[in-house]
Amino acid sequence: MGAKCIAVLTSGGDAPGMNAAVRAVVRTGLSFGMKVYGVMRGYNGLLHGDLKEMNMRSVSDIMQHGGTALFTARSPEFNTPEGVKKAAAMCREKGIDGVVVIGGDGSFRGARDLTGEGILTIGVPGTIDNDIACTDYTVGYDTALNTAMEMIDRIRDTTESHDRCSVVEVMGRRCGDIALNTGVAVGALTTLVPEIPYDFQKDVIDRIRLAQSTGKRHYIIVVAEGVGHTQELAERIQKETGIETRATILGHVQRGGAPTLRDRVVASRMGYHAVELLQNGIGNRVVAMKGEEIVDFDITEALEMPRVFDEKMYKVSAVLSI
Ligand code: ADP
Repeated sequence: MGAKCIAVLTSGGDAPGMNAAVRAVVRTGLSFGMKVYGVMRGYNGLLHGDLKEMNMRSVSDIMQHGGTALFTARSPEFNTPEGVKKAAAMCREKGIDGVVVIGGDGSFRGARDLTGEGILTIGVPGTIDNDIACTDYTVGYDTALNTAMEMIDRIRDTTESHDRCSVVEVMGRRCGDIALNTGVAVGALTTLVPEIPYDFQKDVIDRIRLAQSTGKRHYIIVVAEGVGHTQELAERIQKETGIETRATILGHVQRGGAPTLRDRVVASRMGYHAVELLQNGIGNRVVAMKGEEIVDFDITEALEMPRVFDEKMYKVSAVLSI
């Protein structure tokens, strides 16, 4: 039987575009004749009954803003068998038979557990890192890429004026997709990612020397957060080459800002798809993007899929950037 009353929450790290997904879930649910609740601060709101009934105007004017109007949280209490039972009991008390969770793979584990307690739950990938294996694309990723690219373009202006080298750390603890793509977009001399171990001499110093021999006088090196030691790397480069080298850690600036068109549109399509599944009485699925299609996978299977690193892009980056 299809869900009649659904709830939507955002959980884990926030990402630009989450608001568009919330809006899509609320408006699709209402248009299907469902009762819709917005849950505040992730799973915490389900545990403590911090939720409000939504109407068509509840999600007005949120799509163009970064962050999440429902706020987000990490909830250690939910991440226990008792916590999941308590959240499911709250859903039953409110008559909620379907939940849409917008977040990363930690949040999807929670969604799987909630389905295990009899509440149909759907995951929508919202994370800037693009680190969810089952989908080519996560909501927030495009905005983060564009922010990182703009910031590095600015860094390049000053790096070029002073004949310097800049080492720029972008987000991505386990996943080098932000680094790889911004590296290509800004013409980074070398891009270091957590998936591929690097050799300081070969991948950094030799490339600087080679570029230097062709007349290059300033250098951008992009490093994913998960590689670590960004400041130390800058110091080593300066010591080895004599080129004045600065480290910049972009950090949370990449998490904010108005979502790009692509993030808004993908989030809207994914939110709609999530509610369609619930309307058909289907739970325990993750909404995903394959090529330009919106599809869905079993959550348990999705969580076990191995991430595939884009080797071709890594090669493109290495060839184009000397
Ligand atoms: P993200 O969703 O961005 O990966 P987290 O890993 O912090 O973020 O997960 C968000 C929340 O999801 C956690 O605070 C917790 O409440 C819930 N969660 C995470 N892992 C699990 C798990 N293994 N089982 C149940 N719930 C989980």
